[in-house]
Amino acid sequence: MPLEIQLPGQTAQSTGRVVGIDLGTTNSLVAFVENGIAKIIEGRGDERSSSKLVPSVVTLDDYGSVVAVGNKAKERSTQDAQHTVYSVKRLMGKSYQDVKKEAGLLTYRLVPADEGLVRVQIGKKLYTPIELSSYVLVELKKRAEAFFNEPVTRAVITVPAYFNDAQRHATKDAGRLAGLDVLRIISEPTAAALAYGLDKTKEGIVAVYDLGGGTFDISILKITNGIFEVLSTNGDTYLGGDDIDRRLMELFITQIKYMTPTFDPTPEQMQKIRQIAEKAKIDLSTQSRVMIEIDLPEAGVSYRRNLTLQEFERVAKTVIERTRKPCEDAIRDAKIDVIDIDEVVLVGGATRMPMVKALVHEIFQRKPHDELNPDETVALGAAIQANILAGETKDILLLDVTPLSLGIETMGGMMSTIIPRNSTIPTKVTETYTTFVDNQTGVEVNVFQGERDFVKDNRHLASFTLKGIPPLPAGAAKVEVTFLIDADGILQVKARETHTGIEQQVEVKPSYGLSEEEIDRMLKESIENASTDIAGRRLVEAKTEAQRILAATEKVLGQLRRGQLPVTAAKLKGINVADVIDALYALRRAVNGDDPAEIAKQQSLLERATEPLAREIMNAAVAEALEGKTVEQV
Ligand code: AMP
Repeated sequence: MPLEIQLPGQTAQSTGRVVGIDLGTTNSLVAFVENGIAKIIEGRGDERSSSKLVPSVVTLDDYGSVVAVGNKAKERSTQDAQHTVYSVKRLMGKSYQDVKKEAGLLTYRLVPADEGLVRVQIGKKLYTPIELSSYVLVELKKRAEAFFNEPVTRAVITVPAYFNDAQRHATKDAGRLAGLDVLRIISEPTAAALAYGLDKTKEGIVAVYDLGGGTFDISILKITNGIFEVLSTNGDTYLGGDDIDRRLMELFITQIKYMTPTFDPTPEQMQKIRQIAEKAKIDLSTQSRVMIEIDLPEAGVSYRRNLTLQEFERVAKTVIERTRKPCEDAIRDAKIDVIDIDEVVLVGGATRMPMVKALVHEIFQRKPHDELNPDETVALGAAIQANILAGETKDILLLDVTPLSLGIETMGGMMSTIIPRNSTIPTKVTETYTTFVDNQTGVEVNVFQGERDFVKDNRHLASFTLKGIPPLPAGAAKVEVTFLIDADGILQVKARETHTGIEQQVEVKPSYGLSEEEIDRMLKESIENASTDIAGRRLVEAKTEAQRILAATEKVLGQLRRGQLPVTAAKLKGINVADVIDALYALRRAVNGDDPAEIAKQQSLLERATEPLAREIMNAAVAEALEGKTVEQV
């Protein structure tokens, strides 16, 4: 079920400035282009809000009012953890099921909703991640409006390359809720490549390694004469600098408990320790040792220790190393060798860590670009894209790819893939299907996402029924199914019956999306189960087709017996009915077995026996169904 969203009364105007927004897990930024140069918009007012980053943190009271957003909310998080929400991007477009194992690690409360998106509970009120993200967007919008001294109603917002349809939708909805007309959702690595001006490269392959607070993305882009094409993407929306903070926090808590066994940290104390851990991590990007001091007099805790870079790197290594395999998979999916990569770009605050730079250098066998501030790169690229859409720059085309295959269910519960995974988008693909039963006047179109051969193993996205098909013999009606993915990665499905031109379409808007684990699991299963899937698919396909032919033949034999066939006696002469009956029984026996080769063999024997008759009947029936209509009407 699509999520209902209450939109603010005013609608966005379609003129004025367009800003670029990096809506991050940890921090968000807003940027614009002035005289051809992309710049981050800084906050004004009190000293704290003068920085470029707006922490993606919101504090709400028990009655549903926003108390603080950004730096002020981040500060409050230690005193008021249960009212302060961070890392909401991890929840975007997800169900409670998708994120329930995260629940224990967050200091605020997640609750299941009957259907659709997970909810965050603050006091007695429940919020969707979309609403919570919109508060951060409102803050960025206000920041831009204060800077320009005029309303800002249009934006480009970036999302991780791995975000699926539901997650992109959720982000777009958050923008609308904040009063922004979201002109385009673009992938963060694509924005990063734009920020580095790599569109000027005549031809080359670029890897964008993005390790932020909460997500890791690796993308391989191909640039040809200023055109970006994402060859492959991979990553993990549950991997980032936050995980290192959490590891350090756990280390400190374990050591504190060793000295003070009764220590049972409250959410506020956890938050404070988390911030100390993060600061230590950041300081260790430029220092070789730091002093850790955790004072919690109320709990009788006074913890002090030295943390060396070497010790820290031992803790961080297991997290950082998890980025290696997605990089290797992305290179493989792009069908290139590592030596084909011309440039490597670093994005995300966590890439400031020397050990991350070293790992990237090792994996890609070349020194990565780190000239730009890795926190700002994506927002700067979003601003460049915003400028393109505002009509200021016209010569850059952005292309992206789909993370999983999209298709529809066909007979026997099979998945018929229409757009394969890693296809470049925007894209439009049409496939033609036919009816299975005589006089079928409706076709149900069930849309699925995934790599497995049977739809039951894939993810259901949407269903609709195409009605009003003229009653025709099975196989005579032709239904064209078109999948269109727009530049935001949003899917539209259209079905059209070609004789009558009737059509039906849906925008696929699932109530929640796939978790990264699900995407990984589905890809892994598709590889592991490839051989059983193929055998199963072949058998189901053979049985489905044979049953269709059996039903059609039996019907015809019945009509023949009753003298009801719309075919003249002269045309029936060449047909030996006993042969047809023998072949029919042989095929029925084969269908009850499980040998697809035998089914195929018996089917072709039956087809050979009935072919002249079938042709005559089909011709007569189509002529009858369309009788009295002009060519234009059909
Ligand atoms: P982002 O999501 O790109 O804003 O990245 C935020 C993450 O980068 C957080 O986990 C920060 O703790 C981390 N980070 C920011 N600066 C540094 C630094 N100098 N060294 C290590 N990590 C950093």
